[in-house]
Amino acid sequence: MAIQESSGLSCLYDAVVVGAGIQGCFAAYHLAKRGQRTLLLEQFPLPHTRGSSHGQSRIIRSAYPQDHYVAMVKGAYRQWAELEAKADTPLHRPTPMLVLGQEQNPEFQSYWQAMRRLRVSSEVFTSHALAQKYPAIRPHAGEMAVVDLTAGVLYPDKALRAVQEQFLRSGGTVQDGAKVLSILPGNPITITTNRGEYQAKRLAVTAGPWTSRLLSPLGLELPLQPLRIHVYYWRAKGPGTHVEQLPCFLSINLNQNVRHIYGLPADEYPGLVKICYHYGSPVDPDQPDQLDRASAVPDLQILQDFIRNYLPGLDPEPAVQESCLYTNTPDEDFILDRHPQFSNIVIGAGFSGHGFKFAPVIGEILCKLSLGEEPPYDLAPFRIRRFPASPKSTL
Ligand SMILES: Cc1cc2nc3c(=O)[nH]c(=O)nc-3n(C[C@H](O)[C@H](O)[C@H](O)COP(=O)(O)OP(=O)(O)OC[C@H]3O[C@@H](n4cnc5c(N)ncnc54)[C@H](O)[C@@H]3O)c2cc1C
Repeated sequence: MAIQESSGLSCLYDAVVVGAGIQGCFAAYHLAKRGQRTLLLEQFPLPHTRGSSHGQSRIIRSAYPQDHYVAMVKGAYRQWAELEAKADTPLHRPTPMLVLGQEQNPEFQSYWQAMRRLRVSSEVFTSHALAQKYPAIRPHAGEMAVVDLTAGVLYPDKALRAVQEQFLRSGGTVQDGAKVLSILPGNPITITTNRGEYQAKRLAVTAGPWTSRLLSPLGLELPLQPLRIHVYYWRAKGPGTHVEQLPCFLSINLNQNVRHIYGLPADEYPGLVKICYHYGSPVDPDQPDQLDRASAVPDLQILQDFIRNYLPGLDPEPAVQESCLYTNTPDEDFILDRHPQFSNIVIGAGFSGHGFKFAPVIGEILCKLSLGEEPPYDLAPFRIRRFPASPKSTL
């Protein structure tokens, strides 16, 4: 991908987007498609693996307990297909996803009921039928599975490349290796980076785990927690274990102290299965290897217990371990809103480990908010004002 250089002198853009993860790339693309002269700033040389958007696989699914996410994912499927057509390359493959849980579990019920209510294409398996269909699984007594037949695996690195390419083709400019050091609100907004100064009529902040650092000096203290997530890949114990037939899954079987476990066939390492714990340890995104032992999450232990009991055909020693960052909000819903004091600054953050699939729609929402338009989605769950005591008036 040809990344355009700028002179570094102060220049006026219609829109600047801070952060070229998947959310910033789609926001920038939508703005450029709307005829906005748009600059996308990224602190690291592209591509990089230090945020949340890199890798070979992310699950896309309609299975959500909340109607607003199901509505958003419908729009996202449409836009992913459009991008695939424009890029002329596959960016995902359909793969069913099992939502696994005890029939009486209220959370499992909320997934199942939403899928029925919203007519998501699905099937239901009893534990007996589940074991017959997927012999690698040893179901818990009383367990059921609802299968989301719309689900699939997205290819993040390819998706990032495709959307950046379309952004450039729409007339946008990418400046990588350009770390935003300060934002001076106003009209225009002044954005200072290590590579120079820029001015913009509107700004979108999509800085992932670094978002609080950029917004705190603008009087906004958001409850965003960067977490280090371990990504584990597991090998079959031998032939005949049927683990290669496993689809994507989300297990909500566990007790209240244990969060979700999810898995998918690994594209990164053919033959291995990617199984991860949907939570991690608090971390400084600039020092992701420095974990505070006291607050570290025992994810490996939890996953090994799960694998021994539930997927006994897998070796309970991980074959490969990698890491990635989540940025969590307390309710794990996103933040998609205008800055409460500066309406020409919009924020997309707190994707809490489930934002990739929605990125085309999140980009559209941020673009519309930025242009003063009403996005065609229910944004109430994503408002900043749902958090107490924000914004903090320090300006
Ligand atoms: C292991 C793992 C598994 C996941 N699985 C799924 C899944 O199955 N399905 C799903 O939907 N989602 C999944 N997610 C979540 C999804 O990947 C994230 O929600 C999404 O990638 C967040 O994108 P982002 O653009 O907000 O953040 P990022 O990708 O972190 O991008 C933010 C960018 O901003 C840049 N930046 C920050 N500060 C500055 C600055 N001052 N100046 C310039 N640039 C700056 C950063 O360098 C970075 O490139 C997963 C995430 C992880 C880590």
